[in-house]
Amino acid sequence: MRYVSTREGRQTVTASQAIIRGIAPDGGLYVPQQIPAVDGAFIRRLCGMDYRGRAVEVLGLYLEEFSRQELEDIAQASYGENFDDPAIAPLRFAAGAAYLELWHGPTSAFKDMALQIMPRLLTASLRKNGEERTVSILVATSGDTGKAALEGFRDVPGTRIMVFYPRDGVSQVQKLQMATQEGRNVNVVAVNGNFDDAQTGVKRIFADRAFAKELDGRGYFLSSANSINWGRLVPQIAYYFSAYCDMVTAGQIGLGQEVDFCVPTGNFGDILAGWYAKRMGLPVGRLICASNENNVLTDFIATGVYDKNRPFHLTSSPSMDILVSSNLERLLYCLTEDADRVRGYMEALSAQGRYDVGGQLAEAVRREFTGGYCRDEDGKEEIGRLWREAGYLADTHTAVASRVLRDLREKEGTVRPTVVVSTASPFKFGGAVLQALGAHTGETGPGLVDELAALTGVAAPKPLSGLGQRPVRFERWVEKEDMEQAVSEFLS
Ligand SMILES: *Cc1c(COP(=O)(O)O)cnc(C)c1O
Repeated sequence: MRYVSTREGRQTVTASQAIIRGIAPDGGLYVPQQIPAVDGAFIRRLCGMDYRGRAVEVLGLYLEEFSRQELEDIAQASYGENFDDPAIAPLRFAAGAAYLELWHGPTSAFKDMALQIMPRLLTASLRKNGEERTVSILVATSGDTGKAALEGFRDVPGTRIMVFYPRDGVSQVQKLQMATQEGRNVNVVAVNGNFDDAQTGVKRIFADRAFAKELDGRGYFLSSANSINWGRLVPQIAYYFSAYCDMVTAGQIGLGQEVDFCVPTGNFGDILAGWYAKRMGLPVGRLICASNENNVLTDFIATGVYDKNRPFHLTSSPSMDILVSSNLERLLYCLTEDADRVRGYMEALSAQGRYDVGGQLAEAVRREFTGGYCRDEDGKEEIGRLWREAGYLADTHTAVASRVLRDLREKEGTVRPTVVVSTASPFKFGGAVLQALGAHTGETGPGLVDELAALTGVAAPKPLSGLGQRPVRFERWVEKEDMEQAVSEFLS
């Protein structure tokens, strides 16, 4: 299978090249030239497998250069003891829905589903393309991605990773998670500035040719673990198949019957993986795109106009506080197969902050997606209601999806079998969850984790509950002008 850029559409690259490059030279995103099709027998076979087996089957359809054995080894290393539930991505049934918990990995958020496996796909891709230098990942983070990338790359042979975060721009729990990071190939540095300063600094380092040449002489080259990399999207397709199989084996549906998925959405990566699964032939009914108050996607689905010129809301579901959902570009290309048109939309987005796809394409999007959003206080109310009525503890992101589904069901007066994608452990956003339960005492640090556990009797994930006791390894901070020097020291 070959991959093309959403802004060019003709030149093809292999999967490993797409994973190495991340973004296409023309600024577009890589998509598979054809979407592989599966049949009922394939799905039935998957239902008899564990999560690793399911992932190998799905990945194999997209990554033909990787041998079966290679994918099995990668899945084994990525989805094992590092997850605190042997099912890896278990389904829990509560309040008339199934919650697909994607947060049993080392950082307690769904980014682990992709970032535990992507570093291994990347290093295997580098070998396939004859690369012998050490890949050095640079990340600027506002919180979750940096920690998930650190855990994904930690001690992966042939890699180094350095994360920059804004000194006063992340929560105390997030800061501690990164400062206590383990691994021989990792480094974490705070930047005296905000997230934009950190991100601008990293971009400047990537653009510095002389620096790249110097690193090359030392046997290193720089790369990113960006969320638009195909190597981060493809592992996510697997959990839609896995959830479907678990719905069948739990007797919630018969094989072949349709299931809806309701997905808390930010960058459109998670839900797009569900769309690929549907296109491959998984019996998915509706894909419900759930947003918080930053509801640019809800409006887009309703009108066909994407407009980021609007107030930006800081909400209690910060990983969905996004006004440019990068992965939407992939959907637009797949629905139109017209790279010139997609390039036009993206140019309009960067110039005017807005584009209009027109009636026909808007209609095509609505055939595939249902949009909905919820206000911050309604999400919090949903957390309280799920806990009181079903004894289910949800985080603030999951609660957005759960609430959007509830509103939709009320409006339609019907209940269809639905999987709500649950993207973070409630303990990761303990302050907001405690507040939603009416019990917040004003604690801001790692004590929140213990407080929530004591109040609910639900056990916190180990990496979060032990946070206060772990040795701090990284305390350094630099001025934004000195970031390159810090990289140079790390890679000396
Ligand atoms: C990243 C993230 C999301 C949004 O996922 P996208 O792929 O960006 O749409 C939702 N919830 C949590 C907890 C996340 O970390």
